[in-house]
Amino acid sequence: MTDLVLFWHRRDLRLADNVGLAAARQLSPKVVGLFCLDPEILGRDDLAPARVAYLIGCLQELQRAYAQRQSQLFVLHGKPEKAIPAFAAALNARSVFWNQDVEPDARQRDLAVTAALQSHGIRVETFWDQILHAPEDIQTGSGSPYTVYTPFWKNWSRRPKAEPLPTPEGIEELTDAEKDAAQSAGAIDLPSAQDLGFVWENPLVLEPGETAARTKLKDFCDRAIFDYGNQRNFPAVDGTSGLSAAFRFGTLGMREVWATTVAAEHQCRSDEAYDSIRSWRQELAWREFYQHVMYFFPELADGPYRSPWQNFPWDNDPQHFQAWCEGRTGYPIVDAAMRQLNQTGWMHNRCRMIVASFLTKDLIINWQWGEKYFMQHLIDGDLSSNNGGWQWSASSGMDPKPLRIFNPATQAQKFDPEAEYIRRWVPELRSVDTEYLMTGKIPKSDCEAFDYPLPIVDHQERQRQFKARLQALKRG
Ligand SMILES: Cc1cc2nc3c(=O)[nH]c(=O)nc-3n(C[C@H](O)[C@H](O)[C@H](O)COP(=O)(O)OP(=O)(O)OC[C@H]3O[C@@H](n4cnc5c(N)ncnc54)[C@H](O)[C@@H]3O)c2cc1C
Repeated sequence: MTDLVLFWHRRDLRLADNVGLAAARQLSPKVVGLFCLDPEILGRDDLAPARVAYLIGCLQELQRAYAQRQSQLFVLHGKPEKAIPAFAAALNARSVFWNQDVEPDARQRDLAVTAALQSHGIRVETFWDQILHAPEDIQTGSGSPYTVYTPFWKNWSRRPKAEPLPTPEGIEELTDAEKDAAQSAGAIDLPSAQDLGFVWENPLVLEPGETAARTKLKDFCDRAIFDYGNQRNFPAVDGTSGLSAAFRFGTLGMREVWATTVAAEHQCRSDEAYDSIRSWRQELAWREFYQHVMYFFPELADGPYRSPWQNFPWDNDPQHFQAWCEGRTGYPIVDAAMRQLNQTGWMHNRCRMIVASFLTKDLIINWQWGEKYFMQHLIDGDLSSNNGGWQWSASSGMDPKPLRIFNPATQAQKFDPEAEYIRRWVPELRSVDTEYLMTGKIPKSDCEAFDYPLPIVDHQERQRQFKARLQALKRG
């Protein structure tokens, strides 16, 4: 009888270019997929309904993809260290394979699952899949992890990248007895997001699943990637890939993504187009940089990298925080961005930086409040990138340029000069002069007429206060 191998999907909800799954198929033609709904994760208070809806959409498509290959994606609901070994033992599986994760909680969980499987005599093999280079492979000359992005990028970008892996084919169907055993061992029908208690009524701005992600990647690399350098900072323009949720849930393999950028390079007709592809690859490298640092410095998940920031005297005014969350700060660019997040579960990168700077430097609110709020709403919410983005914005992270304060007016003037983005997301201000929308100095009469708040703080004044507190902190 052929040995059965279970492949545990986590952040790799696809069949193509999947390192662990390809290895499982190489070991045996009898491969089945597994996804475990972990009540501990589902019970967290920072889970975004849009993200759960996206996850379920990806799983639905993955189940269909397995079924088309005479195999199955089983869904379990329970603590992985209990549910997975029990399931593997019931199916008489000899091996369980999966792709590794960098997050501290996931690594703890994986150690527990490994120990439990091994105690049943079941072999475990793990792989690096969601990043192009494993953390141990990109280190400084002295063998330590990078803490600064630019040298990381130099090292990361000059290394050869692996070729994409094929979709596993020729999979052997389970016997009826094995299918029955799977049902008795806890396999359940895939629930909806609503069944799990997550209600997301708006359409998903990013379409879930491997097929949609591949189409989006192709479209982006056929067109927008060549102008990415010029367009990426304008939130009113569709100039970025919109692939962050696909990368978050692994509906695309990163080798395939890289190979698609190489193919795009062959179509380049100008230096500008080459530079644009390079800029996009730099963003892929930021994603990997943040994953590497989370792997080597798991304490980042709980607090600032720069320890003095633990004692920073934040104001943490709950009313100001509420206004920021609702998009009612009186700063149109900030409010537009927060409303985009609340209504779609996604926000443009430029705006993520603006609202993060505003929360920490203008409202003087602890960046961890913003980090959590983002996780509660983002469809692409990801511990490493989110934490990295917030620590970069708060100046508490690894970035060597420690103080960065964004002026909302200057940001709006540079990146939304016609106020297109502002008017889209703050429609009550549609008829207000662009100049006022840029500076945020909307006449009081207009604010009253349109039920829009006056600025809740004064940027110049708050900037002075913030700097003074930082100086005092530095002096000890
Ligand atoms: C405060 C803050 C919080 C953030 N939180 C998240 C998060 O939870 N999840 C997330 O995926 N990204 C996060 N980002 C990074 C970035 O804003 C998004 O990845 C990007 O907006 C997604 O849009 P896109 O796919 O069109 O990006 P593109 O511009 O097309 O970039 C391609 C890919 O590169 C990666 N990338 C781009 N910019 C960054 C960056 N600054 N840091 C890390 N990776 C990057 C993403 O995977 C993205 O999909 C955050 C940034 C900030 C400033």
